Amino acid sequence: MITRRTAAAVALSAATVVSGMTFGAGTANAAEPLPSSGTDYRISSHAGGALQWDGLNSGSNVVVRDWNESSAQQVWSVKDEGNGAWSVKVPGTNNAVDRDRGKNTVGAWNYIGADNQKWWLENTSMGNGRAWLLHSVSDGNLCLARGADLNAKVASCDAGDPAQSWNLDRATGTTPPSAGRPTIDLDYSQAPDLRQWLEQQKQTVADYYPTISNLITKGAFAAPTYFKIIFDPTLKLNPAYTTVRNDGVKEIHVNIDYTRSNKGDTGFLVHEAVHVAVWGNPTSRPGWLGEGLADWVRDYNFQPGTGAQHFGSDISYDSGYQATARFIDHVSKTYRKPDLAHLLNTTNYDDRIWVQLTGKSAQQLWNEMPK
Ligand SMILES: [Zn+2]
Repeated sequence: MITRRTAAAVALSAATVVSGMTFGAGTANAAEPLPSSGTDYRISSHAGGALQWDGLNSGSNVVVRDWNESSAQQVWSVKDEGNGAWSVKVPGTNNAVDRDRGKNTVGAWNYIGADNQKWWLENTSMGNGRAWLLHSVSDGNLCLARGADLNAKVASCDAGDPAQSWNLDRATGTTPPSAGRPTIDLDYSQAPDLRQWLEQQKQTVADYYPTISNLITKGAFAAPTYFKIIFDPTLKLNPAYTTVRNDGVKEIHVNIDYTRSNKGDTGFLVHEAVHVAVWGNPTSRPGWLGEGLADWVRDYNFQPGTGAQHFGSDISYDSGYQATARFIDHVSKTYRKPDLAHLLNTTNYDDRIWVQLTGKSAQQLWNEMPK
């Protein structure tokens, strides 16, 4: 159930309204300025509680729950999408508060800029001008509302209805941060002559790790901040692979023979560091996509311009590695989806995503890609 915030809780975060009572100091009857676009907010209901997302996947529920200052699930990224229309997204994802046109329910769905995913903000007199109605752009007579069942929905707009009146308060410090510089331990006992090489690679990988996080997780989930790189004499086939020990420590195992004959290669360790960074990812994707994302980070970001350009007729978008990396690069640039890799990495994979984003299937997109 929804508990009302106590006066003590209100004192900690000034100017929040609960159950129609007003606490805004010195702002009586002054209209509140529009939110700062691209900033994180908490959205609380005048009927009690706060708007909360249920998950990181497209289609997740949007509900109202007890205000919880420390809950990342009550933080929303609010953005001006132009012409007075705003999106309200789950931070670190592309999922926006979305009105189902048929059922008038509300969920967090992959944002494609549709009118039923945008809202215009009306500042009302309720709560000394602190309250907002969120009108659906696809039907301005419908406003975001706290349902009696505590699911978000839309209802016929009524500026006097506390269940439709929302406060927007800047959220501070609760969004999971992008990963910082990790701690990396080394084990070169099986190839001590390569110690200096490995020490150098460690610095490069550690320096680049926050960028990896920014490219594909953006704090949507916590990236591991500790892992090991180990020379593994039993590894003969691949240059390296990533695994996790029973105690949870992630390890990158490195092929000693490969290293001796490829001392100029750091990219293969960056590829593995991508696997480490996404280890806690609560969403799922096929193996080819995971390998494609790791190569996309390497070939189009860490060492841009090194991606493979030519592929045989037996290779396709789901062949993984460099083919999938080139495919991701092609779609993100051609269709201006700079967040594509991030999106692919923070939602459960569904083939329909390509049509949703571009109007074309993956196969059509692969066919049109120059190669
Ligand atoms: Zn890999």
